[in-house]
Amino acid sequence: KAKAEGKGTFRMFEPAMAERMQARSRLEADLRRALGAGEFELHFQPLVDVRTGAVTAAEALVRWRHPEQGLVSPADFIPLAEETGLIMPLGAWVLRTACLQAVSWPREIKVAVNLSPVQFRDDRLPETVAETLRATGLEADRLELEITEGVLLDDEERTLMMLTKLRATGVGLAMDDFGTGYSSLSYLRRFPFSKIKIDRSFVRLLPDDAESAAIVRAIIAMGAGLGMATTVEGVETAEQYAFVAAERCGQVQGYHVSRPLPGTAFLGFLGDLEAAA
Ligand code: C2E
Ligand code: MG
Ligand code: MG
Ligand code: MG
Repeated sequence: KAKAEGKGTFRMFEPAMAERMQARSRLEADLRRALGAGEFELHFQPLVDVRTGAVTAAEALVRWRHPEQGLVSPADFIPLAEETGLIMPLGAWVLRTACLQAVSWPREIKVAVNLSPVQFRDDRLPETVAETLRATGLEADRLELEITEGVLLDDEERTLMMLTKLRATGVGLAMDDFGTGYSSLSYLRRFPFSKIKIDRSFVRLLPDDAESAAIVRAIIAMGAGLGMATTVEGVETAEQYAFVAAERCGQVQGYHVSRPLPGTAFLGFLGDLEAAA
């Protein structure tokens, strides 16, 4: 674009670029400060078993309680945290905090933690996970790690080795945002995932859109055939819930059940369910 605008645009382009870079380094410094100041918090979104209606797990979702900007969503800081490496200490904090919280929940409720591809590149990840479980006292089978398809593209041999080591610690492995990446279906067979999470982009147009319906139905059937649990993400309406429940998916996650909640509110949600039952 700058080229098409001809001579002189270079000079105009520069300050804009410099500004962007300044904003970026300000955010980076702010992120670093926030880690030290303990400004991050976890919210928990329940996953509900469609057969029983019971909460079987909660996904930990990080938020930044910014002193001026209020609650900042992960989309606004995870990418930079990944580029700068700050995702390593942040990710370690998320893992430890999620495990610590889950220790105080009923035994049958698991906690799911998102892993960045950057964390996955660290060979010590399986030991870090095992060590965190030991330190927090959480049973391994109560932790589920969510990994996106993007992680699987780099190096298949290494991916298989890492996933195998992680599974050996006893944790569950969920393939997150399934259907949005490029991974082939054979990956699902090759890699030791215990769960598929169907991306919410396939749910948005349910139940009326025939193509979305076909895709969701096919993924659930495939998961069942491979002996994997399926969670459907982003279920916002009663109609969507009814559709995926009729298709016998395993669990549902979405605003129709609950938005992500701060820790105490999540416990309140569990209490309310129990009172209603
Ligand atoms: P994700 O792992 O796919 O998490 C689900 C996202 O969908 C969450 O957004 C959740 O609030 C949102 N969601 C849940 N139900 C619904 C619904 O019914 N409708 C709609 N429209 N959205 C729904 P959130 O919390 O903003 O997180 C966005 C992404 O940020 C996550 O996607 C995950 O990739 C990343 N993320 C969040 N926490 C962490 C973390 O601790 N570490 C890493 N590496 N990534 C994280
Ligand atoms: Mg996730
Ligand atoms: Mg997801
Ligand atoms: Mg997603």
